[in-house]
Amino acid sequence: MESFAEGTVPETERVAFMNLALEQGKLALDSLEVPVGCVIVEDQKVISSGRNRTTETRNATRHAEMEAIDVLLEQWQKNGVTREEVALKFSKCTLYVTCEPCIMCAAALSIIGIKEVYYGCGNDKFGGCGSILSLHTSSSPKLTRKEFKCTGGIMATEAINLLRSFYEQGNPNGNLMENIHFNCNGSNCRTLRQCSCLYAGRPT
Ligand SMILES: [Zn+2]
Repeated sequence: MESFAEGTVPETERVAFMNLALEQGKLALDSLEVPVGCVIVEDQKVISSGRNRTTETRNATRHAEMEAIDVLLEQWQKNGVTREEVALKFSKCTLYVTCEPCIMCAAALSIIGIKEVYYGCGNDKFGGCGSILSLHTSSSPKLTRKEFKCTGGIMATEAINLLRSFYEQGNPNGNLMENIHFNCNGSNCRTLRQCSCLYAGRPT
């Protein structure tokens, strides 16, 4: 698995936090969701976690990263944290996610100004951190996007095995699966091969 930056966190720490992200992925699997999980860490403490909830919410944007970000935003909003303070807080946070952030999530992480990202397996269809686009390496002052350090390949095998077990067990929510495809051709989506989405090729 390719790494896109060396990263600043020691190996043992990366593995420990990625294990927690994998646990979130397992919770997603138990809930019959595509198993992707993440944790957000500040000062070596997990301050938020998230798992994919696209099927449950019937909302294609409810990826693990968005869930974890929203937990913090809600909490900070309740505590009256200012916009500037939110930006400062995110700039000290590191995200561990089992699968490379998609383009949407990579853009969001760049906008909130996350410090660093570690991911497990690559996302060949929609990866926003090197596979398709490299949103982590390009700043856009107009959109106030910031670069962030991003390193892939942390426990990639475990992340892939998790995804594989989801596809192998079959998907009881097959009729809802089009919700998590964001680049498919509508009705062709469930015929799998014609769909270019991340989840194409899964068993029906
Ligand atoms: Zn995403």
